Amino acid sequence: MTDLTHLTIAAALDGLASRKFSARELADAHLKKMGTLKNLNAYITETPEKARAQADASDRRRAAGEKVGALDGIPIGIKDLFCTEGVQTTAGSHILEGFKPTYESTVTKNLFDAGAVMLGKLNLDEFAMGSSNKTSYYGNVINPWKRQGDNTDLVPGGSSGGSSAAVAARVAMAATGTDTGGSIRQPAALTGTVGIKPTYGRCSRWGIVAFASSLDQAGPIGRSVEDCAIMLGAMAGHDPKDSTSVEMPVPDFRKSLTGDIRGLRVGIPKEYRVDGMSREIGDLWAKGAAWLKEQGAEIREISLPHTKYALPTYYIIAPAEASSNLARYDGVRFGLRVPGNSLDEMYELTRAAGFGKEVKRRILIGTYVLSAGYYDAYYLQAQKVRALILRDFTEAFKQVDVILTPSTPSAAFGFHDNEDPVQMYLQDVFTVTVNLAGLPGISVPAGLDAKGLPLGLQMIGRGFDEETLLRSAHALEKAANFTALPAGV
Ligand code: GLN
Repeated sequence: MTDLTHLTIAAALDGLASRKFSARELADAHLKKMGTLKNLNAYITETPEKARAQADASDRRRAAGEKVGALDGIPIGIKDLFCTEGVQTTAGSHILEGFKPTYESTVTKNLFDAGAVMLGKLNLDEFAMGSSNKTSYYGNVINPWKRQGDNTDLVPGGSSGGSSAAVAARVAMAATGTDTGGSIRQPAALTGTVGIKPTYGRCSRWGIVAFASSLDQAGPIGRSVEDCAIMLGAMAGHDPKDSTSVEMPVPDFRKSLTGDIRGLRVGIPKEYRVDGMSREIGDLWAKGAAWLKEQGAEIREISLPHTKYALPTYYIIAPAEASSNLARYDGVRFGLRVPGNSLDEMYELTRAAGFGKEVKRRILIGTYVLSAGYYDAYYLQAQKVRALILRDFTEAFKQVDVILTPSTPSAAFGFHDNEDPVQMYLQDVFTVTVNLAGLPGISVPAGLDAKGLPLGLQMIGRGFDEETLLRSAHALEKAANFTALPAGV
């Protein structure tokens, strides 16, 4: 039998439907492989019993001829930021160690209702703050990709680095991620996988540990645009428990992959040609535009003039919201508690021991920009610039249907690169604008750099027009024909 872990979701669904293999065999193949690739540290918690029980239930549904869901029997990993009932949910933080939610996040509930099988909870940067997975309390995740002829371990991107590494290494057929400033698209780009951040409001945030509530959005990482379309269809939908989730029908995203992009207007934003961009990335970007043109798209240069303010704006708004969201971890209700001589001392000791360095830095920045003396100078100003960034996109989308950019300024880097936090923040230069504007964005693997590492191209769409975005990304994927695999997978 072929290696079941190498199938796409689309192929696995066909195989399950025609009884070539069972959901149990599919789950077992992944669980076995997880055992051999533990060195990647992609999972914080493995849930083999749950996986087998869900797979068996799926097999019973098929045997009984019952109606099956869009992901019936498909083994996936869940970023450990989604609350899963009765299963430890850490957010990559010491402060939540041992926390077992008594409720299920809406997105994971939707996935399980669609028949998905959970292999385990995937590692991430602490509270989803980071671009490398280095900030996880549960250790680094190793990218399955290596530079040619060089055995140095590389980062899988972040914050959904466990998700991207697992999907790339074939220890999950797909995974959930969350994206506040790039955390789905950047790790997808660094691991040769596809990741889509849908429009803000497309997926419910209920039951996802909050980082920056006005920016956070869930989405899938998968091995093809089609797989992401299937996953997103199951994850999305209105949820009365999240007032920012939008009451709109969820389209059949798979149907939008028509292969026809004739007449599509593709924008190339000139401001994304940032200083010091490597030739390789610039060339790949041009190649991407040429691929779309060959298929009948029209390429237009556009301007997004406020792009240069996006990173500073994001690094004010995101920490501001985080400092408020993280105030709830006080040692009383969740996870860790370090006793003290008074209530205040207990708070202080718990938070001092429970949060890592990057999280503390963000809380400090956030508290500072929200403080009485600086609110107007920083936070209010950032909100105004955010509105201008959205306006840039609104103007651009009068001229084009989608926008093409690089996903990241570099390929996967080493654990000792980008040690300076500001350097690390620069990883998000092409992705944060999309979160600030609430738009959907997708990263598609488009080629390899000179050292054999994957590089991604990003496409950005209009709000709630994931269909055009997926159709365009599918066309890009077809032309790029990215088939490379990390060694040993
Ligand atoms: N890298 C960005 C940050 O550190 C984005 C994180 C995310 O999207 N969750 O904030």
